[in-house]
Amino acid sequence: MRHGLCLAIALAGLLGGAQTAAPQEGPKKLRVVLFGAHTMDPELACGGLAALLRKGGHEVILAYSATFRGDLKINGEPQAVVHQREATQACKILDVTPKFFPYANEKLIADDASVKEVGAWLEEVKPDIVVTHWPVDTHPNHHVTHSLVWQNYAWQGGWSLYFFEIMGGQQTQLFSPDLYLDIGSVVDRKREACFAYPTHPPERPWGVHDGMQKRRGAECGVTDAEAYVLLGPKKGCALLPVTFLPRTRDYLPIPAKKEGK
Ligand SMILES: [Zn+2]
Repeated sequence: MRHGLCLAIALAGLLGGAQTAAPQEGPKKLRVVLFGAHTMDPELACGGLAALLRKGGHEVILAYSATFRGDLKINGEPQAVVHQREATQACKILDVTPKFFPYANEKLIADDASVKEVGAWLEEVKPDIVVTHWPVDTHPNHHVTHSLVWQNYAWQGGWSLYFFEIMGGQQTQLFSPDLYLDIGSVVDRKREACFAYPTHPPERPWGVHDGMQKRRGAECGVTDAEAYVLLGPKKGCALLPVTFLPRTRDYLPIPAKKEGK
């Protein structure tokens, strides 16, 4: 039972004799940050979760720690401008809010200044829940982003922390989830958001994630699923307000990466 719920029940007991009943309120709306390294990472990893949270009326922010490399340009425009424009469109499709950190891919490190900058933003936003990269990942930006969030979780608290997987087996490694989310009702919306990135391009990563969704779905008895791990739970902090399914069979093998891709 959540801390807030315990408090509500206790207060209800104390106020049991009151003549005027308080207005009925629905379940608390939560603020959830889905924190990825690159543009398209949070959409690919947890676009289904984002869409389901919005269906439930919760606030969702997609944070991106690194949106460009050096002074690279795309059709004459800085890569950051193009990537952030595409991410803004993806967020519009998911009806969520983007947050861009100013780091370049090749300079993203979890040093004191970066940890504090991310921490200051989290303090300001005051999320109920943050979902980010699993720490064992072949992409350095992914495990650095994990560290930026994790260090603030360890020191700051106040929110629950979950992990997602990205390009499972190619990037995220050794991920053993126990929380499965049926995304069948929103998978088209997730796909649409991922395809808001024409310059990435989206076909190959979507193909990998489509296979992951089918594999995770088979592991819990549905067609398409995303899978998560909860660190904690942390006392007094809310959990993701979605219905997770348990795993119903052994983990399925991850297909080998195709040559030349
Ligand atoms: Zn990435």
